[in-house]
Amino acid sequence: MLAPLEDPAAGAYRRLSQWHGELTAFRRDLHAHPEIGFEERRTASRVAEALRVAGVDEVHEGIAKTGVVGVIRGRAGRSRRAIGLRADMDALPIAEENDFAWRSTTRGMMHGCGHDGHTTMLVGAARYLADTRAFDGDAVLIFQPGEEGLGGAKAMIDEGLFDRFPVDAVYAMHNWPALPAGTIGVNPGPMMAAADRIEIVVQGRGGHGAHPYLATDPVLVAAHIITAAQSLVSRNVNPNDNAVVSLCSMHAGEPTAYSVIPREARLVGTVRTFRREVQDMIEERLGRLVESVALGFGATARLKYQRSYPATINSEREAHFAADVAASLVGEAHVVRQLPPSMGAEDFSFMLQVKPGAYLRLGQGGEGSCFLHNARYDFNDEVLPLGAALFASLVEQSLTVAPPSENPR
Ligand SMILES: [Zn+2]
Ligand SMILES: [Zn+2]
Repeated sequence: MLAPLEDPAAGAYRRLSQWHGELTAFRRDLHAHPEIGFEERRTASRVAEALRVAGVDEVHEGIAKTGVVGVIRGRAGRSRRAIGLRADMDALPIAEENDFAWRSTTRGMMHGCGHDGHTTMLVGAARYLADTRAFDGDAVLIFQPGEEGLGGAKAMIDEGLFDRFPVDAVYAMHNWPALPAGTIGVNPGPMMAAADRIEIVVQGRGGHGAHPYLATDPVLVAAHIITAAQSLVSRNVNPNDNAVVSLCSMHAGEPTAYSVIPREARLVGTVRTFRREVQDMIEERLGRLVESVALGFGATARLKYQRSYPATINSEREAHFAADVAASLVGEAHVVRQLPPSMGAEDFSFMLQVKPGAYLRLGQGGEGSCFLHNARYDFNDEVLPLGAALFASLVEQSLTVAPPSENPR
């Protein structure tokens, strides 16, 4: 996994490997004390404390409630360039099923997505960058709250994140159990899908199960809507595009009322897309389809379509650059430059809508490893120095220090 010593990134990796024990202890402490989005008070204060101890020049707390931003000024001090690095801090409402010593101490909550690892890697990078400062410009370390469905990245942007801390590009990484440890994946273009929530409410007329001809059965209408909705991806989306329509919840009537036709049926699900045109098309057609299927049965139905996270789209230049930086650490053979995009979603997409940048996948398992959001998941501490060195190298290799001959004086 380790790069040859003459490589510029090798220094960062070697140094961070010396702190592996401390980083592991920090990560496990966060794992034992998970906090839900926008309530990461303990986590944020541990981060802020670690940044101050590391000698980070500015530490700002309380951005979007629990967000933390650190700024490190490079030693060269000539450039006004700046690079943003982002980590997420929140946990999930999952009851952990692990039994190791650092398992969650909060009932019904766990770090099931590895954000404890992301936060630790960025703290590690901060310590290294504040110590060496071998770059020209500013490193802006962004610790965001509420990634899991709460849009913490957007909340920070709305509170002026990039006005207060302007950056030329921003990078984030997510651990990826499907890739082996020591492998890094990044590609230009789509990395993660846009995630929308859909809710369909069917209104019929309730009645006796023995006399359906006197009622308008919303359960039957809902069943037809479920079937018809499957035609959107198969018949309306161009096969060269990707999309998913999933109806994941249905509710009507009461299990105890076996002979009561209810008045209403409700379906809830999600739509995943990468391109705005496809998203617009599905919203429009699904709405029409829902209304007209219901109409055909003498009922009414309405679609509520909520766009939550946009698609995560890496900018071309920064994605290629990030892949080169990754290769300087792990070698070209361990960089996947054409990773198939995931239909999952990520709120780093909001940052990529306003800044160029890239979202990387840091391999941490390989075949058979436990996937994200599983009650038995745990971040693999083996990759902490590598992820931290990757963060640090993105800064060092973006904000290179000009050779002395180019100095004006
Ligand atoms: Zn997650
Ligand atoms: Zn996550």
